[in-house]
Amino acid sequence: MNKDKSVAIVGGGPAGLMTAEVLSRQGAQVHLYDAMPSVGRKFLLAGRGGLNLTHSEPFDRFVERFGERRAEIEPLLRRFGPEALREWAHGLGIETFVGTSGRVFPKDMKAAPLLRAWLHRLREAGVQFHMRHRWLGWEDASTPASTLRFSTPSGDVAASHDAVVLALGGASWARLGSDGAWAPWLSSRGIDVAPLVPSNCGFDLTWTPYFAERFAGMPFKSVAIAFTDTKGRKFARKGEFVATTTGIEGSLIYAASALLRDEIAEQGSATLTLDLLPDRTPEQVRAAVLHPRGSRSVASHLKSRLNLDGIKTAVLHEVLTKDEMHSPERLAETIKAVPLRLIAPRPIDEAISTAGGVRFDALDDKLMCLAEPGVFAAGEMLDWEAPTGGYLLTACMASGVVAAEGVLRTLV
Ligand SMILES: Cc1cc2nc3c(=O)[nH]c(=O)nc-3n(C[C@H](O)[C@H](O)[C@H](O)COP(=O)(O)OP(=O)(O)OC[C@H]3O[C@@H](n4cnc5c(N)ncnc54)[C@H](O)[C@@H]3O)c2cc1C
Repeated sequence: MNKDKSVAIVGGGPAGLMTAEVLSRQGAQVHLYDAMPSVGRKFLLAGRGGLNLTHSEPFDRFVERFGERRAEIEPLLRRFGPEALREWAHGLGIETFVGTSGRVFPKDMKAAPLLRAWLHRLREAGVQFHMRHRWLGWEDASTPASTLRFSTPSGDVAASHDAVVLALGGASWARLGSDGAWAPWLSSRGIDVAPLVPSNCGFDLTWTPYFAERFAGMPFKSVAIAFTDTKGRKFARKGEFVATTTGIEGSLIYAASALLRDEIAEQGSATLTLDLLPDRTPEQVRAAVLHPRGSRSVASHLKSRLNLDGIKTAVLHEVLTKDEMHSPERLAETIKAVPLRLIAPRPIDEAISTAGGVRFDALDDKLMCLAEPGVFAAGEMLDWEAPTGGYLLTACMASGVVAAEGVLRTLV
């Protein structure tokens, strides 16, 4: 490509950094702008719980995780998929391993060493970082899309480049930089943006004050949840999650969160069923509950026959009356299917990720905005979602690669 061409990347998360890597390798002048004092803050946060880079399952299974957006995400992953991501990490001197669940992590589980090595390589390749540069959107409808206005500690500045890649992230954890403020700015330029909504999020339900005080923060372990929405879409899985003062959160809930969120949006609530003993059949549970309990209390009967206690017994009291607790049939049935009526997803700022964003219909196959040629978009700000498991980072980076290659094809 013409080495005089300069490209602005706005947003220094994994998508923007990957874009910078591909462009700088090809000799483009790359200017990366970010609102925060340093890049990759959400990436570093992701590393706190063990950085799940990608997943080792077969490609066909991997792409299924993108649900309704599989058709749009698959071509990106064919260009830069889970295997490529692992090789890329190895190239930075970061060994990876496959955990028992098939998830792929750096050997030390951390994000910081990887980010450090990555930034070093990008600086060596000539990427210029402009920190504390908050993009403010386009001044007005007549401003060329390639002219960007930034708020900086020394006042507002404008910059013009030959191409712009927006990699602004979603709208969760705004204190780390991605606040979703860009959505109306893009819409105003004719770029279609689906509403930003929480993904991989917790939910509110109404616990009694007694339950909330005693059990918030405690896990439901070795349970299963099941949910069928009004369209007949089903979710059923074993796992664990945590009670909060206002509801529930955790990996099992995140996995069902897209269905639950959409159902609440359409129906006002979503009722899932919680199986407290997924390894026992309904008949086994029924037989145990119906076993004569003599003078023992219901609680000690459940403890001795089914090893049920603590939060699992408490949640039964949340949904059953005293009389129902003493009805063995009703109790046995509920142990296998505690109804939990969810009334709202937690606010988007608390979510692991964001659904909604720039619609794929608004982009060409290079991820360039049809309404603003020369402006590309990548990462979580695109309209897709996926569960946790490394799918988010993989697709963010894949879209960064594709956007960068799109820029290169455009600027020849
Ligand atoms: C707690 C937590 C744990 C996670 N763990 C994992 C995990 O283990 N595996 C996984 O695959 N995913 C994980 N994720 C999700 C993953 O971190 C994100 O999907 C990913 O960081 C999104 O990358 P991105 O580059 O699109 O956006 P971001 O990483 O959000 O980066 C966007 C950048 O744009 C900048 N920006 C935004 N607006 C402006 C503006 N107006 N001007 C200038 N700059 C701006 C921001 O400062 C930010 O640096 C986790 C997320 C959270 C919250």
